[in-house]
Amino acid sequence: MAVTLEDSSVVVRFHRVTVRLSPEVLKVFDAHRQTGWFSREAGGQLFADIQGEVWHVVAATGPRSADRRGRFHFWPDRNAEQREIDEHFSAGLEYVGDWHTHPESVPTPSQNDIYSIMNVLRESTLYTSGLLLCIVGLAPFPEGVHVSFHA
Ligand SMILES: [Zn+2]
Repeated sequence: MAVTLEDSSVVVRFHRVTVRLSPEVLKVFDAHRQTGWFSREAGGQLFADIQGEVWHVVAATGPRSADRRGRFHFWPDRNAEQREIDEHFSAGLEYVGDWHTHPESVPTPSQNDIYSIMNVLRESTLYTSGLLLCIVGLAPFPEGVHVSFHA
């Protein structure tokens, strides 16, 4: 996996797909970084305009009031998630994965993070070849974001 910063986008090249996180998406991540020891994990969903093997991630939804948040955990509101998926789908954008913050500089997914994205994969009817998991840490991009592809 190679991660670079190109034209203010974070570009990640996987074996099967190239993921571009747009400046708009990075702005959402930035706004929710877990900078204080007391701040809580935040997260949401990622939506992309898929052009062949290039996934342009152009929208990231933020935390909702019905989400339950703690410093080391994040439980999304599943009904709101399905509504977000439907809304973006009618605008031509595919649901391509989830993101959340971690209180560490260069973030890595926890065992539980991997378990939950695998669970989403199993329970979803997907139109994509897999799902992304983005973890947002404290370091500047691209070091401060971890992107993994799960299929
Ligand atoms: Zn996590």
